[in-house]
Amino acid sequence: MIAATIALAGNPNVGKSTVFNALTGLHQHTGNWSGKTVGSAEGFFTEGGKRYRLIDLPGAYSLTADSAEEEVTRDYLCFEKPDAAVVVCDACCLERNLIFAIQVAQLIPKTLICINMMDDAKHKGIKIDFEALSAELGLPVVGVSASRGEGLDELEREMALLAAGRLHTVFIPVRYPKAAERAAEVLAPVLKKKYGFTSVYPVLKILENEKGFVAALEKRFGPMSMDAEIMGALGRARVIMKEGGITPKNVSEKLSTCAVLRAEEICLSAVDMSAAKAFSRDGKIDSVLTGKLLGIPVMLGLFALIFWITVSGANYPSELLAKLFAWLGEKIGSLLSDLNCPAVLESLLMDGIWKVMSWVISVMLPPMAIFFPLFTLLEDLGYLPRVAFNLDRGFKSANACGKQALTMCMGLGCGAVGVTGARIIDSPRERMIAVLTNSFMPCNGRFPALIAIITMFFAAGRPFSSVISALMLTGLIVLSVVMTLLVSWILSKTLLKGMSAGFTLELPPYRIPRIGKVILRSVIDRTLSVLGRAVVVAIPAGIIIWLCSNVVIGEGTVLEALISALDPIGRFFGMDGTVLTGFILSFPANEIALSIMAMGYSGGELSEVTSLAETAALFRMNGFTAVTAVCTLLFFLFHWPCATTLFTVYKETKSMKWTALSILVPLLTGLFLCFLVNMAAKLFV
Ligand code: GDP
Repeated sequence: MIAATIALAGNPNVGKSTVFNALTGLHQHTGNWSGKTVGSAEGFFTEGGKRYRLIDLPGAYSLTADSAEEEVTRDYLCFEKPDAAVVVCDACCLERNLIFAIQVAQLIPKTLICINMMDDAKHKGIKIDFEALSAELGLPVVGVSASRGEGLDELEREMALLAAGRLHTVFIPVRYPKAAERAAEVLAPVLKKKYGFTSVYPVLKILENEKGFVAALEKRFGPMSMDAEIMGALGRARVIMKEGGITPKNVSEKLSTCAVLRAEEICLSAVDMSAAKAFSRDGKIDSVLTGKLLGIPVMLGLFALIFWITVSGANYPSELLAKLFAWLGEKIGSLLSDLNCPAVLESLLMDGIWKVMSWVISVMLPPMAIFFPLFTLLEDLGYLPRVAFNLDRGFKSANACGKQALTMCMGLGCGAVGVTGARIIDSPRERMIAVLTNSFMPCNGRFPALIAIITMFFAAGRPFSSVISALMLTGLIVLSVVMTLLVSWILSKTLLKGMSAGFTLELPPYRIPRIGKVILRSVIDRTLSVLGRAVVVAIPAGIIIWLCSNVVIGEGTVLEALISALDPIGRFFGMDGTVLTGFILSFPANEIALSIMAMGYSGGELSEVTSLAETAALFRMNGFTAVTAVCTLLFFLFHWPCATTLFTVYKETKSMKWTALSILVPLLTGLFLCFLVNMAAKLFV
């Protein structure tokens, strides 16, 4: 039995997920930027022997929904009618947070204000008078430090009391211009009768003729214009407002400023900032990290540093894992022989599936296990929105959206995540640009392959080899960003014409990350998912590869036939048939491309993961040169998305046309670049 349903809302980045997880014992986390939770999650907690349902709504700055996540939040609060709501606020930016809290309270009378980050506020010298705040708002207020688990018991108790109707607080309404209040009095009873609305928020939104809200309302109840009673009341209300100087043009501004002013007024009487000191700290850091002069160089330096740590840390564990898998493979192989397993099955299991899996795990896992925690650390520090900020101007000039920088960062982990993440971009045109160029960022399937090729052909044996690798990798990422901007611009001039809609990026305060949590989260959320995928992918990929190298057509195997058929095309673009075959057969997952290439060069046997030096020698013996390496690197960055990502593109766009374009756009880019490099090499080298 559920005693009540309570909605949890708040601005992005206020610690809402932390509160939700702490109360429900769940572990939700997807990112640290605005719009990270697009759907809502549900959890339960028990208080005083009763069970409560808690709905975690996507972060929203306002109920005047400007984005997909804000729409989810508004629609839930407006139409699902939870029994109570909790608005999580950041104690350090209370004024902005209260504007949203007021909107929620205008919709859900039983609203509780949870002021989180009290530890941060204390540290910064911000003092909050809870009693005054509660009295000014007419709402219960609880202060917590969710990440330290402080104040949560009281929060739970108050939430239960509120939901049970045992907290006698009455929200003090915002004052509006007299004419608007009289107009609201005319409209409210009709809306109550027709739609069951008892709160003031829908009345205000209809008076404002707020398009998003009206559309959401009409989707549920049918067109308002068909209802004579509503139209009559609305007409009268508009006349009253007009007499008071409120016209359709200024109504939205006149009404929305009231809540803003009210939030300011409340903060003036309840928040004491006189001793606040560290506010300037973030400003100072930002003047460097997002400054015109240093913002981008520091960003490149930071990424180069992360790549360097990844490259130099991954080699040794990779070798160890490879040895372990080879040893285990031998044992399993002889066990299968002892069990009289048919030779074909043993070959399929061990030469196909086992070898693909061990390749994927030993080559992919170590760099990812190092890269992800470092990346999550940047995310937790609050640095990623700064990346978006630094790149915002570039994206605006490309007529795209600065938030695309964030989806690009997500794409660095997994293309499919980047494509889904593009939902944070509001304009459908800009969202589509982000989807079509998403695969320009190397995902974790391609990333280690890039490192391997760079190390094999450009860094190994040289002094400071890991520094060279890191710098080249940074160069490739910069190239990806430049191509993303260029292709976004081309798309915005051709298939997806339009101007940048622009948006204001909120820079959240910097926070000291909790190292333990960062490691745990990156291991659980990301590294383990790479592992899981390795296993899931290894089975079909291993079977395909095994079939290709064992089924004979004509003179040779399918693999050989494919390689020789593709050779002329490959060579035209600076690669060869084996490399192209590697790319084509790795369509299920990019992780296996390099191992298929190695297999092609070694005559059909999927080789054990040997040292990079041996792999490099094998490649060289087959005519793989520095130019081939550059073209292969470029094609790794720009070809088609893997099967999972492509499927996600289809799910998100529901269109074969855009799905096909998400293959064509990177493919044409890659072929063009490879052709250029190959021609230049022929002319100059
Ligand atoms: P959401 O976007 O609102 O869901 O925010 P999250 O729950 O993801 O939290 C954003 C960041 O704030 C994370 O780095 C949390 O660890 C941190 N955080 C959450 N609660 C607190 C708190 O009470 N104090 C401090 N200092 N940090 C917190």
